[in-house]
Amino acid sequence: MERPCPPKRCRLLLVPCPYQGHINPMLQLATFLHQNGFSITIAHTFFNSLHPHRHPEFTFIRLNDNLPLDDVSSWDLGSVLLAVNNNCRASLEEAVAAMAGKTGEGSGEVMCIIHDELMYFCEAVASRFGVRSLVFRTTSAAACVSRCAILRLSAEGRLPVQKESLEEEVPNLDPLRFKDLPLSAVSDITKLTQIILNMYAINTSSAVIWNTMPWLEPSELNKIKAKFCQIPIFPIAPIHKISPTSSSSSLLKEDSTCLSWLDKQAPKSVIYVSLGSVALLTKGEVEEMGWGLVNSNQPFLWVVRPGSVRGSDAIELVLKEVEEKVGDRGCIVQWAPQKEVLGHGGVGGFWSHCGWNSTLESLSEGVPLLCRPFSGDQRVNARYVSCVWGVGLALEGELDRKEVEKGIRRVMVEEEGRKMKERAMDFKRRIEDSLKEDGSSSCSLKQLVDFIMRVTF
Ligand code: UDP
Repeated sequence: MERPCPPKRCRLLLVPCPYQGHINPMLQLATFLHQNGFSITIAHTFFNSLHPHRHPEFTFIRLNDNLPLDDVSSWDLGSVLLAVNNNCRASLEEAVAAMAGKTGEGSGEVMCIIHDELMYFCEAVASRFGVRSLVFRTTSAAACVSRCAILRLSAEGRLPVQKESLEEEVPNLDPLRFKDLPLSAVSDITKLTQIILNMYAINTSSAVIWNTMPWLEPSELNKIKAKFCQIPIFPIAPIHKISPTSSSSSLLKEDSTCLSWLDKQAPKSVIYVSLGSVALLTKGEVEEMGWGLVNSNQPFLWVVRPGSVRGSDAIELVLKEVEEKVGDRGCIVQWAPQKEVLGHGGVGGFWSHCGWNSTLESLSEGVPLLCRPFSGDQRVNARYVSCVWGVGLALEGELDRKEVEKGIRRVMVEEEGRKMKERAMDFKRRIEDSLKEDGSSSCSLKQLVDFIMRVTF
């Protein structure tokens, strides 16, 4: 995939959204672009600050987000996003002004901004300095379509959704039900619609880069192309497979000891359990998960992220009891090298919250999913995994150890699980095809490189 260096260097200023599920794909994209001859500067916030020493090939600048250091964890996602978009603008402007001094006429360098869709303030900065910008969407196309539906429903006065409508399908949004809409990450509807409007008001962007594939979400991408027809879209997924050698961008330390535990397990026997970097659970939910895993009789690798349980101290005892009960059949870690785990031959299923990265990482390895979404786009992805792609099973309703046990066994040992596994393997093959020289993602990436060169020089 490596291409010759552009004659004049083009510096790309990449602005990730400061959450793990956004940082990973942006740094993977950065690695690919760097390998293709671009110079890379990453602008990151103090909140969930990155580790520059792991990426000596990039230049880093810090954006002053003015977030209080200690109590951001109690804020809802919408409040953090609005604050970041308001507060970071001044320091990005300063950085772009300084860079513009070094780039442009006679400098041998030109410049372009690539920003996460949630860092929409970058658009205004790019416009002010006459710099080209591209948006990187790190969620599914289905999530985008469902967010646009939220705007429509809000205008029709149908939000918040009434309790009795939750199970109904949303008109023109098959197979999504009202309860699948990405409403819950931002508690206040006005804040949510404001964020969505800002995200999709493409006024100045030159193009959209998308971590999806046209064959995976054909009708969703077509709907989007019809709506935003004025600019090109580059679907390049799965970005984590494009630059597999890129250094870890984990905010938490990965515990690799679980890989040697996995080496000792029978092929495809382990259910890997991880609910991503943001989901919060109650102690009761952890108990039901733990005892469901114990009773399933399947080997399991369970990630219990520090701070993921309200009042964390209370779960130490639960985890200790589970560990004592299962002995070597279970392995519990605080954070795993997830891509390696999913690629390990011992893993046969993934109990996931269905964040978009986790979903793509699982499909890329042919691993079927047990879906337990929490908020945001996760419910949309879970619905597609279970009802459209048939590669997983949804665990709905209150978390209950009997349902957990049943769900795990359905995915891991029963006939329906075997069929899901076959379909997941088919997805893995199709993804591999997309990444071949003439595959859709490889072609899209080549076109993206050519496009950036064309519009910046
Ligand atoms: N991840 C990881 N180790 C873990 C759990 C998650 O490295 O123990 C990574 C995972 O590979 C993915 C990201 O964290 O790239 C989570 O992103 P996702 O979109 O799945 O969910 P989010 O954390 O945004 O809810």
